[in-house]
Amino acid sequence: MARAPARKTPSPASDDLAPRYRHRYCNARSTQPRVFGPGLSADRVRAINSMGDKWVNGTELSYYFFDKPTDGETVTAVDGTTSFVSWRGSNAEKAAVRQAFDRWAALGIGLKFKEVPTREQAMVRVGFMAGNGSWSYVGRAILGIATDQRTMNFGWSVAADPDTAVHEIGHTLGFEHEHQNPFSGIVWDEEKVYAALAAPPNQWSRDKTFFNIIRKLDTSQVQGTTWDPDSVMHYPFEAGLIRSPTKYLTQPLQPAGGLSPRDVSYVKQLYPPQGPMTGFPELKLMESRPLNLNAGQQIDLRIKPTRSRNYEIRTLGSADTVIVLFEDVNGQLKYRGGDDDSGEDRNAYLKLRMARGSVYVLRLRLYYADRAGETAVLWW
Ligand SMILES: [Zn+2]
Repeated sequence: MARAPARKTPSPASDDLAPRYRHRYCNARSTQPRVFGPGLSADRVRAINSMGDKWVNGTELSYYFFDKPTDGETVTAVDGTTSFVSWRGSNAEKAAVRQAFDRWAALGIGLKFKEVPTREQAMVRVGFMAGNGSWSYVGRAILGIATDQRTMNFGWSVAADPDTAVHEIGHTLGFEHEHQNPFSGIVWDEEKVYAALAAPPNQWSRDKTFFNIIRKLDTSQVQGTTWDPDSVMHYPFEAGLIRSPTKYLTQPLQPAGGLSPRDVSYVKQLYPPQGPMTGFPELKLMESRPLNLNAGQQIDLRIKPTRSRNYEIRTLGSADTVIVLFEDVNGQLKYRGGDDDSGEDRNAYLKLRMARGSVYVLRLRLYYADRAGETAVLWW
């Protein structure tokens, strides 16, 4: 994990003299970009990139706030002194994050959110480490983060700035920064941007500024072909950092605040509301079920084992899929395991124990299929 920047308490006088930039920015965490083997068609890479960090719809994202006195990091100041900075947040800060989850949930999307009391149960683990910036990993990348580590941090008060909590949760849902949308047409005054972000309160390196602002996303990583400067995933910018559109030479770019109409329509398109799981068709043991799906589409199937033992689940045929198994525990679907074969010459495969009397839901999302209708799923 990145260390917190060295912090020194400046005297008020020196603070007044230091050039400052008005906005504090989220510093989204990236994992290594995916590297594909040779011979993948452009269509296939595009299909994988557009869905690669998204959740299968219906996932319940469990979240947890670090709560032990030992949860935190020791940071070293420029004068060599060290201090321990806690990851724990106040009740007001935690309440602001809960409200931000509720704002996404209130849209009626197919994802669910649930606070859990231990880090072991949690997929999203939230810290409030002051001075460490506000950030989250993007989408399913959080599954690769160790249980004792944060997947999201708030480096300043989200009780005073609730949109930052909505924004970081947006990353966890799989959304990237909207100001990096290649369809924005933004031309940066790059040196001014680097200088503004190098100043307090962000104090970013050029690499960090490039990664979070200057770098354009691939067209496959954004929804649609338009730019939404009111998105909650868009930073505000002071006047003069953007050369084009030219109006931002003299006026700031200030998103409207909160979720924009397009944020709402995109998240509902990606994670549409789901009916009760009793409506999902049952996949019988040893039954190979053909998948008549288009790229990006998902199927949900019920599985009811009649014996308790290890089972195998796999896809058949030439397709890029992600499969995720959930167990119905008192009406809540708990994540049990998943596999993603996208971009590889193999099939998605899970081996895990299922219990007699329990009901499971297998969700399968298709990225891409060579030949429509020649893909199937099977468990045995
Ligand atoms: Zn961000």
